[in-house]
Amino acid sequence: MICLGIESTAHSFSIGIVDDSGRVLASIIDMYRPPHGWGIHPAEAAKHHEEVKDAVLEKALEEAKIKLEDIDLISFSQGPGLAPCLYKGLNFAQELAEKIKKPLLGVNHCISHIEIGRLKTDLKDPITLYVSGANTQVLGFISGKYRCFGETQDIGIGNALDKFGRGVGLDFPAGPKIEQMARSGKYLELPYVVKGMDLSFSGILTAALQKFEKGTSKEDICFSLQETCFAMLTEVTERALAHTGKNEVLLTGGVAANKRLQDMLHIMCKERGAKFAVVPKEFAGDCGAMIAWLGLLMHKAGIKTKNEVLPRQRTDEVGIGWL
Ligand code: AMP
Ligand code: MG
Repeated sequence: MICLGIESTAHSFSIGIVDDSGRVLASIIDMYRPPHGWGIHPAEAAKHHEEVKDAVLEKALEEAKIKLEDIDLISFSQGPGLAPCLYKGLNFAQELAEKIKKPLLGVNHCISHIEIGRLKTDLKDPITLYVSGANTQVLGFISGKYRCFGETQDIGIGNALDKFGRGVGLDFPAGPKIEQMARSGKYLELPYVVKGMDLSFSGILTAALQKFEKGTSKEDICFSLQETCFAMLTEVTERALAHTGKNEVLLTGGVAANKRLQDMLHIMCKERGAKFAVVPKEFAGDCGAMIAWLGLLMHKAGIKTKNEVLPRQRTDEVGIGWL
């Protein structure tokens, strides 16, 4: 069985084609990049998705060496995400499903990050640290649902890094550039904000930008921003491990590419005797392949969904019939 998955929650429009053995036959990602000095404008990102969708489909079918008619199932990102972007994915998925008369399934974006991570690593039942532009969540499977043990109370860690980057003249996405600049920085104190199991990044961002305005070196702030935010993420992940008794940590999302974050989690896991794995870069960011894989898992479990978008859907609202 072959599933075509469409991802369109935010900046990326992506189509992945995956078979039921977990083989990724195609993964094409076309990312909207805002003009210099700007963040993602939902309507502009949606316009981008509309413009590139046919070309992305064509490339994906070409890469998979199949025709649209060979697809058995279509899935799309139902939420959480930016409504105008989600509608582009839903509409295109509906159009394709009607054309080839195949079933259509809406899947949860965050859970698809976990499931492609389990597919692409040897972890079975991890605590997942999902760190992307918009999302920052510590997730784990307990009593039939993926539960969120801790999350950001304001902006995602990726968004905090990008906003800092914008404030100091770095292009979007700023994460990789901050990582590079941090290598030659030294530590300065910034607010450390863990509230129970939740996190907050907006105050740290303000403090970091104020330091920049006062003339502190960009390198020092980049280093301190990473040390502070990543220590917070590691702390909450460790406490989720302790609370649940699990012994695996999966790191995913665009920010998972960061070596310093990987190192901190690796050290924490080693000290606790837990396994640690990072989702391979091509599947850690938003991609259609993760949507296709979750579509297959849900379809096999007999799950059906409505053709609707759910911009604020939460992970623990989703019934997990496949585990
Ligand atoms: P996503 O939303 O999952 O596609 O991830 C995009 C986010 O990942 C953006 O906020 C980027 O700045 C961030 N990102 C990408 N590479 C890195 C890196 N090496 N270090 C930190 N953040 C990164
Ligand atoms: Mg994502």
